Amino acid sequence: MSLAHDHLSGRDLAPNDLDAFWMPFTANRAFKKNPRMIAGAKDMHYVTPEGRKILDGVAGLWCCNAGHGRKPIVEAIQKQAAELDYSPAFQFGHPKAFQLASRIAALAPADLDHVFFANSGSEAVDTALKIALAYWNVKGQGQKTRLIGRERGYHGVGFGGISVGGIVSNRKFFGSLLAGVDHLPHTYNRAEQAFSRGEPEWGAHLADELERIVTLHDASTVAAVIVEPMAGSTGVLPPPKGYLKRLREICDKHGILLIFDEVISGFGRLGYAFAAERYGVVPDMITFAKAVNSGTVPMGGVIARKGIYDAFMNGPDSVIELFHGYTYSGHPLAAAAGLATLDLYREEQLFERARALEPKWIDAMMSLKGLPNVLDIRAIGLVGAIDLASKPDAVGKRAFEAMDLGFRDHDLMIRITGETIAVTPPLIISEEQIGELVDKLGKIIKAVA
Ligand code: PMP
Repeated sequence: MSLAHDHLSGRDLAPNDLDAFWMPFTANRAFKKNPRMIAGAKDMHYVTPEGRKILDGVAGLWCCNAGHGRKPIVEAIQKQAAELDYSPAFQFGHPKAFQLASRIAALAPADLDHVFFANSGSEAVDTALKIALAYWNVKGQGQKTRLIGRERGYHGVGFGGISVGGIVSNRKFFGSLLAGVDHLPHTYNRAEQAFSRGEPEWGAHLADELERIVTLHDASTVAAVIVEPMAGSTGVLPPPKGYLKRLREICDKHGILLIFDEVISGFGRLGYAFAAERYGVVPDMITFAKAVNSGTVPMGGVIARKGIYDAFMNGPDSVIELFHGYTYSGHPLAAAAGLATLDLYREEQLFERARALEPKWIDAMMSLKGLPNVLDIRAIGLVGAIDLASKPDAVGKRAFEAMDLGFRDHDLMIRITGETIAVTPPLIISEEQIGELVDKLGKIIKAVA
């Protein structure tokens, strides 16, 4: 195998160099014929190996909320690597993991006071589902095992996550998945909701489907409901007004745990530390990942209410711990990066900044209404999505062309899912850059018409 060059352009690589890496969620054959390579990043931009600056319209993968290459975060990681590279996650502790857990708990609403660390959103979700099942066990209600997710939900790629998730292609190749899982209907209805700003007026009644599912199985068998407050990866679906409150009421009525998957919505994306705060709804657990350390070092986790933690701590002697954990739970580098990131969010008031920019962001996104093939635009917080009409021959082709063209010809990185373009820039984006981003998007949409 040949050695990689210092300065990779992708096309300079011998075929074998591109061959070995089996890329995730990527059509490898097509990519390797014509790769989109990135070599560097700073603030709002990626840099290609040829030195082209690409405006980052997606904060990496919805994770680099503080922007790229931020000095305090970089230095914190470097210092930590030199000081304590790794310490065993089980039976031993290091200060920064405890400090970060307290800082995260302080940002979370109500008595969500206890943080369990994992290394990704997928692990965070599987951890939350396992905590829910174990919680009912230690409470002496081990028959509560059913889980309820939602159509068009994305909860990562673990077996728990794809079982409660509602993306057909992520499920259908992987056998029979977890037993005892039901799905709420998704909340999107174009006829009723198209071009609504923020939370649509229509759709709160869809939460009542939970009542129907619970009645069908009897509440004594249901452990937990998991939803993204705002469905992200399936096209940005903000919750209808009142929908999340209604879910909470039904869960309370029947003694069912409510889990908010905030892997995308956590840490400022919707203008608040967590979407739970924005919507005034307190879930029993929140999953997080991505922006906890601005995407710099893999980390995820679960924030649990006091009552859940206490059930284990005060449980029978046979239950003295949660039999769950990862070698890298609370990894020193990830924790140090997290502390520096939370400092930066606070010093630069980035959550408040996202909240203040939201009306301008929504105006900017909605200005693309009327362009060819634009069927709907949704915008909330610093998130936007544009649904394009499919080409007659293939669903997803037009959006794919937009992403490819954006990168190659318009120096803009966007994300696509199906026929939807999603944009979720770092929270440091300036008003001028919002204008630039939307201007580029407009040109791209016209070009793929
Ligand atoms: N949950 C949600 C809501 C997500 O958006 C994602 C990732 N986009 C995940 C879970 C999975 O996270 P990861 O890719 O870090 O496993």
